[in-house]
Amino acid sequence: MHFLPLNGPETGSKQKQFDIVLLTGDAYVDHPSFGTAVMGRVLESAGYQVGIIAMPDWKNPLSVTAFGKPRLFFGVTSGNVDSMLSRYTAFRKVRNDDPYTPGGQGGLKPERAVIVYCNLIKSVYKDVPIVLGGIEASLRRLVHFDFWSNRLRRCILEDSRADILVYGMGERQILEIAQRLDLGMGLENIPGTVLLMKEQPEDAFLLPSEEQVMSDYESFIQFYRLFYRSFSSKILAQPAVKRHIVHYPPPKDQTSDELDKVYDLPFTRLPHPAYKKPIPAFEMIRFSITAHRGCVSGCAFCSLALHQGRKIISRSEMSILKEVEKIAENENFKGHITDIGGPSANMYGITCSKNWKCGRDSCTFPDLCPNLQIATEIWLKLLDETKNLKNIKNVTIGSGIRYDLLMREKNAGNLLKRLLKDYVSGQLKIAPEHTRPEVLKGMHKTPVYPLEEFVKEVEKTRSAIDKKVYLVPYLLSCYPGCTLANMQDMQNDIQRLFKFLPKQVQAFIPLPMTIASVIYYCGVDPLTGLKYEVEKLPQKRKQQHDVFFSPKIKKDRDKK
Ligand code: SF4
Repeated sequence: MHFLPLNGPETGSKQKQFDIVLLTGDAYVDHPSFGTAVMGRVLESAGYQVGIIAMPDWKNPLSVTAFGKPRLFFGVTSGNVDSMLSRYTAFRKVRNDDPYTPGGQGGLKPERAVIVYCNLIKSVYKDVPIVLGGIEASLRRLVHFDFWSNRLRRCILEDSRADILVYGMGERQILEIAQRLDLGMGLENIPGTVLLMKEQPEDAFLLPSEEQVMSDYESFIQFYRLFYRSFSSKILAQPAVKRHIVHYPPPKDQTSDELDKVYDLPFTRLPHPAYKKPIPAFEMIRFSITAHRGCVSGCAFCSLALHQGRKIISRSEMSILKEVEKIAENENFKGHITDIGGPSANMYGITCSKNWKCGRDSCTFPDLCPNLQIATEIWLKLLDETKNLKNIKNVTIGSGIRYDLLMREKNAGNLLKRLLKDYVSGQLKIAPEHTRPEVLKGMHKTPVYPLEEFVKEVEKTRSAIDKKVYLVPYLLSCYPGCTLANMQDMQNDIQRLFKFLPKQVQAFIPLPMTIASVIYYCGVDPLTGLKYEVEKLPQKRKQQHDVFFSPKIKKDRDKK
């Protein structure tokens, strides 16, 4: 592959015409945790010549011409995070930083980056196909609530004028698109994509029109419910002006073998050498390993189920150990693997005895599905194997764990002891999000084991192993249905249980296309039909959030 890291000239490429040019809003890091690197390496392994333009100057159309016109298509992404989320705080203040750029400098990518980059390409090359991918496109693939403009927005394909949108993890889709364009074929019927078409496919399930959905709450709620419950099994078609937005179901489940092959691609695991300053997002993960994809929870505020899916796809032990050995070759590596996890570290190895085929919205809400096969032993064995490798002195878990799943294991006490003793450096992250049942219900996050019991179990275990281990709870403020009184109750609960008030409190941001974004916008849960009071006024949201950040609490925290 050839890279163009900023706006300078390409570094000595003799390539006449590239097959594909990928354009990303993030700095280029050749590492499997960065989507552009994965897409580039997958395409390259299939024999395509790929150029990558990272952080183009969005005010200058020439910045997209660095590799000339690609033979097949431009692939466009905002990067690993939605550009509005990376630009603004939960209180809609401009952020000065961006962990995906050199030095963590903010403002290097435009707002609504996907649309801006597509316009830039269209202003220079009118007839090159554009393929959208990444989280910003994926979570804006149909009509959605946009927190930053406080209104519904239509499918991003329409605003960007791109030719096709890839949602989800994208490896299979991007290859199929490349192969079809190479053969001069059409792009219809590719699983995991969205297209604008003149006619709806005959076998499509018809959704209410985009115009109707955008005109009243009831239609939007109905549309969302239909979408959420059928997108993974049916072709969906939604009339939009004179066309149809056609949403194809996700590709067949990835296998562990396929995932291993992705991680086995020749990533250098480094940022482009042109960058003079460290890239914070890379520094955080440079000695950590992604062990699996997917999340069984389906929490209402999270976009993961819509993007990666509910099924857990775990890499093989051999593939992970091989990656650890590669990390150990790095001259800066001091022997510490800082994480082996995923969205929740202990979901590695989880399977479903019904082969993930059922009509439930979540494996853990409203209660734990008896078919879920929790696999903490397999995960701990993987950590043991890693620790035994040459040049590995220490393995710790940096991701949060789903403590309630661990505690539903038969030999939970013993598993917890092994985890705390061998793989926790001092802090173990958990994400109860809230302590009040009425708020948790709106989050679709009932703990399947009581938090209080878990805290007691940890206290008992740390005395037994004589090790200082602190639980760090991640919490949410301002969630739909949460009142100031609920926040004060949570503060009391947390102080009583943990004996301190954590900084890790995030003010809720309704991410596009999540269940919670519909609840925030309409005050109704589209799946359960329950109604919620939603705090939208900025000063009232701030008041809720400040329950954990009053000057006195900050002072007490600083003292400790
Ligand atoms: S059967 Fe249970 S464990 Fe399997 S996918 Fe459905 S909810 Fe999840």
